[in-house]
Order: sequence, then C-alpha cells, then structure tokens
Amino acid sequence: MQVNKITFTKFMKKYGYWIGLALSIAVLITVITLTAVGRATVPDDDFEPVDTPTISFANPLTEVTTLKTFSNTALQYNSTLNVWQSHKAVDFAAEEGTEVYAVMDGTITEVTYNYLMGNIVKLDVGGGITVVYASLANDVPVKAGDTVTKGSVIGQVSDTAKSEANDGPHLHLEVLLDNELVDPNLYLDLSEK
Ligand SMILES: [Zn+2]
Repeated sequence: MQVNKITFTKFMKKYGYWIGLALSIAVLITVITLTAVGRATVPDDDFEPVDTPTISFANPLTEVTTLKTFSNTALQYNSTLNVWQSHKAVDFAAEEGTEVYAVMDGTITEVTYNYLMGNIVKLDVGGGITVVYASLANDVPVKAGDTVTKGSVIGQVSDTAKSEANDGPHLHLEVLLDNELVDPNLYLDLSEK
C-alpha cells in the first residue's frame, strides 16, 4: 500500500499538470457542446416569423393601373407638393367616378374628409387590418358603422386628395396592420384581373 501511495504521488508530481489540463479541456468541451445543443433545441423567443398573410383582398377597382407604388423609406417625387417623400400607400389611376370596391367583408369605421387626402373611408376587415381609401369623390355611399361585403361599392374615384392633385383622379389605398402602414400589395393579387 505504502509503495502504491508513493508511486501515485510520484506519478502525480510528474503528470499531474497534464492530467489537470486534459480534464479542464474535457470540461470546457462538454460545456460548449451542451450550450450548443441547448441553443439548438430551445425555441428562440426573439424569433419573428416572416409575414405571410393568408388574407387575400379583392381588387378595389375593376381595372387596376398602378400610378404610384408603396415605399416605406425610399423617396418618391410628389409633383403637386414639389417634394420627395415616402409613399406608404398604393395609388391606382382611374377615371373620375370609377366605382371603388370593398376588398373584403368588413365594417366601415370612419368616413372623413381632409384637404390633403380628400374623402377618406376606413374599412376594418378584421385580423388587425384596416383598409384606408382616400381621394374619393364627394357623396360617399357608406357611413361609419355600416357592414359591407367584399366587392360592394364604398365610393368613387376622384381627385379630392389635394396633396396628390397633379396625379389626376386616382385611388390612394393604404393598409394598416396593427396601426402600421404596410404595402397593400401584400394582400392584393393584381395579376388576377
Ligand atoms: Zn397616394
């Protein structure tokens, strides 16, 4: 026994450092592996799914001719105001008086007028989505509280939006998703008609 103890002590004196080092490295590798495995299996709370809406709008006009596209940050020239600005909407050119349709079943939440955007109709279609129609003609045929069905007439195209007067009669269409303006083309399929 005594011999064994001495041999062991000698052995440890000679190789102890290396054994310790090897053990440290082994522990480190184990920790790193476990952390990596943990990361791979535990769902990341910060993960935000790509917005792939299943909601599909009907076209707001029988014929859709895009006049101005949606731009969140990119500036577009507004010849009426002589400024470069973002345009968080899509503009569709159409003749004065062209019928404008509800893109989905929903409830009219607001019918208002303001000088810059003209006559405005807001349509809540559920799912946190509100569709805003602007530059509509006077005598809007719907009022707040009305429920409308997809394809029903909610107004007519005009040039009442004074901030876009140089663009002529057109529909200025906005889509609010949880109160943030998003590209209406996320929900529109303009190739359909
Ligand atoms: Zn516009």
